[in-house]
Amino acid sequence: MDTSIETDMIIDNKRGREYDTANQPLYYSTAFIRKSLDDEEAHLYVRNSNPNREKLEEKLARLENGNHGFAFNSGMSAIAAALMTCSPGDHIIMPADMYGGTYELSKTILKRYQLSFSAVDQTVADNVTNAITENTKAIYIETPSNPTLKVTDIRKIVEIAGKNNLITIVDNTFMTPLGQNPLSLGADIVVHSATKFLGGHSDVLAGAVILNDENLKTSVQEMQVVMGTGLGTYDCWTLGQHLKTLAIRWKQTTENTEKLYQFFDSHEGVGDIYYPGRDPLHLSQASHGGAVISFRIKDESKAQEFVDKLNIPLVSVSLGGVESILSHPRTSSHLALTEDERQDRGITQGLFRLSVGIEKSDDLIADIRQALDSI
Ligand SMILES: *Cc1c(COP(=O)(O)O)cnc(C)c1O
Repeated sequence: MDTSIETDMIIDNKRGREYDTANQPLYYSTAFIRKSLDDEEAHLYVRNSNPNREKLEEKLARLENGNHGFAFNSGMSAIAAALMTCSPGDHIIMPADMYGGTYELSKTILKRYQLSFSAVDQTVADNVTNAITENTKAIYIETPSNPTLKVTDIRKIVEIAGKNNLITIVDNTFMTPLGQNPLSLGADIVVHSATKFLGGHSDVLAGAVILNDENLKTSVQEMQVVMGTGLGTYDCWTLGQHLKTLAIRWKQTTENTEKLYQFFDSHEGVGDIYYPGRDPLHLSQASHGGAVISFRIKDESKAQEFVDKLNIPLVSVSLGGVESILSHPRTSSHLALTEDERQDRGITQGLFRLSVGIEKSDDLIADIRQALDSI
């Protein structure tokens, strides 16, 4: 029977057969026993494969409608495995405003292995076309981007990649598989920081790679198994539990975000608002605006006073938790940029990024309203 993602995150065909428990047991063991010496189906050693990771990886593949899912011990190790499907000498086109860790990875480590990178504003497709060289192997996309939620046309990039025999890799962390499915739009590899919405409880550090192609699968699997970057057993179990509530968390958080957008739009103390939920291009490739919204307070000198007045959002970094998380890119995630680079990207003292949680939206709005009114 074909069932939906919501159901598939919860039902378990081994329940009542291999185990008589509501949850898959935690197989906290590094070694497994084979029924016979030549039994190659069973698990053997934890780094290669184990029941909890296998179960989680099935769920990850199901979420993105991919043939193969891989659970990594961080978003960064997932991204590294995806980029290292390329070989020395290859060139990769990256987004100019890529996630900071991805930038560090490409600039420091991968460069040493003779991979080269161009960072371009991918919202203009011609920039991508113009960056292609004879060594280009892949285009890496992040949409919407951080923190100003700029949207890249996934179909268009996939088309450019197709014409030039390149692979397309998409970091889908911000939209989750419930909001956007890059593989269905023709991308080759999807990566996630599962630390964010997939985990959703601000506790597990994890990453995911999902893909269809058998050759890419072999390469990603080798990275995971040989480098030992697979997600640890206990975290696989926990992430599997958290995925059971992904759909309901995502529904609440995206509904809240719409309400917050309307509130920000109506408040005089708020200047620019960055939210892809009103962008036709974004809505042509995603089901709604997601759960991250950035905004600029008009009196930029009052950033500290504003956060001091807030009671509900966690003022920190990261995103995707059940709690709303307010971050201040200029002094946290984007501190490594020069002041000019920050100004160019709109990352000013008054810019905040809100990852909307699942609190009651009326409470969130009331709290942010009183803080804005008081500055
Ligand atoms: C957090 C994040 C990452 C890195 O993931 P980790 O789980 O922290 O290793 C990569 N991409 C995006 C868009 C992120 O938000």
